[in-house]
Amino acid sequence: MEKNFALLRADRIEKILENLSQLTFEVTDACNLCCKYCGYGEYYDGYDKREDKLLSMEQAVAILEYMAEKWSSKYSSSHRKKTYISFYGGEPLMNMKLIKEIVTWISDKNISHCHFVFTMTTNAILLDKHINFLTEHDVKILVSLDGDILDVLYSIKKLGIENISILMYVKSDFNKELFDKVQNFLQSEEINHEYEFWVTDEKEFDEIETKTQDITPELVNIKPVFDGSNYAFFENNIYIDESDIQNIEVTKKNIFAHQALNTNDFGKLTITADGKVYANPHFPALGTVDDDIRLLVHKEMIAGTSWRRIRDIQPCCDCVYQWLCPSPSDYETVIGKPNLCHVMP
Ligand code: SF4
Ligand code: SF4
Repeated sequence: MEKNFALLRADRIEKILENLSQLTFEVTDACNLCCKYCGYGEYYDGYDKREDKLLSMEQAVAILEYMAEKWSSKYSSSHRKKTYISFYGGEPLMNMKLIKEIVTWISDKNISHCHFVFTMTTNAILLDKHINFLTEHDVKILVSLDGDILDVLYSIKKLGIENISILMYVKSDFNKELFDKVQNFLQSEEINHEYEFWVTDEKEFDEIETKTQDITPELVNIKPVFDGSNYAFFENNIYIDESDIQNIEVTKKNIFAHQALNTNDFGKLTITADGKVYANPHFPALGTVDDDIRLLVHKEMIAGTSWRRIRDIQPCCDCVYQWLCPSPSDYETVIGKPNLCHVMP
C-alpha cells in the first residue's frame, strides 16, 4: 500500500474527498413491502443477503466525521456545486431514527460553504408519520406511483405541509386512473413535483407520450429500464450513433476527464446497511466504514473498477470517438457490453 501511495500522493486523495459529490446511505435493508419485481427479490441476483439490518449512527459517523472536516476545508470547491446526501433501503423510513440523526448532525456542523441536498427514496407507507421532519429539513422525496400513494398525499396535505418536493417514479405498467388522480392532486395543491417514467419498450414509450400530453414537458423525465431481455429496445433507441456523438459539446475539460475518470461515478460513495463502502454498488465493496476512508479512495483510484472505468477496452480503445463519448454508465454494466453504440460492432 505504501508503494502505491507513492503513485498517488496523499494530498491528492484528500483533495478528492474534499470534493466528494454524493454520499448515499442504505440505512436499512429491511422493507415493509414485498414487491414482485424488487431489485432485491427473486428475479435478481448479485446483491448481499437481506437480513433486516439497520445501519447505526456510529457507523455513519465513522465516515461523516472525516468528511465534515474535508467539506469544511478552504480547498473544498463544494460551494460551487451541490453535495448530495441520499438515503435508500430496503425502506429507509424503517430506520428514520438514523436519517434524523444524520440530517441533524450535518446541519449542526454548519458547513456553510457546502450546499447539501438531502434526498430519500421511499415506498411512502410511513411517509405521513415523518413528513414534518423531512420537509423542515428540505429532504427531497423520491416515491413510486403505487398502492396507497394518493391516501398518503391526502394525509400529508391534511397536516398542512406546504414545502414538500416530490420526484415520482412511474413504472411502465402504471394505473392510469391513479396517475390522473395523483396528477390532479399535485397540480391543484401546487405541490412541487416531477415525474420519471420507466419504459422498457417502444409501446410503453408511445403510451407515455400520449398519456403525458397535458403535463408540462419540463416535469417529465423518461428513464429506459433494462429488464434482462429488451436488448432490441436498447439497440433501437438508446444506442448512440455518429450524429449523436457529433452533437456532444466538445470541451477540453470533458476530453481530459474522460481519459482519466468515469464522470458518472467519480466522487460518489455508497455505504450499505452492513457497513460496506462502495464506489458503485454494481462492483465489489472497497472495504467497510471501519477502514480509513483515505485508503478506500486510494484503493479505488489505483485498482478500482468504478471511478476509473473509462473507454480503454475494445472496441472503444480503437475508436476515433474514444474520449468524446460519455463515460461508461451502469447500462453498460448491467447489459454486459463495453459500448452501447452503432459505431463499432
Ligand atoms: S418497496 Fe422497494 S425495497 Fe421494498 S420490496 Fe418494494 S421495490 Fe423492494
Ligand atoms: S465504440 Fe465506444 S468510443 Fe466508439 S462510439 Fe462506440 S461507445 Fe463511443
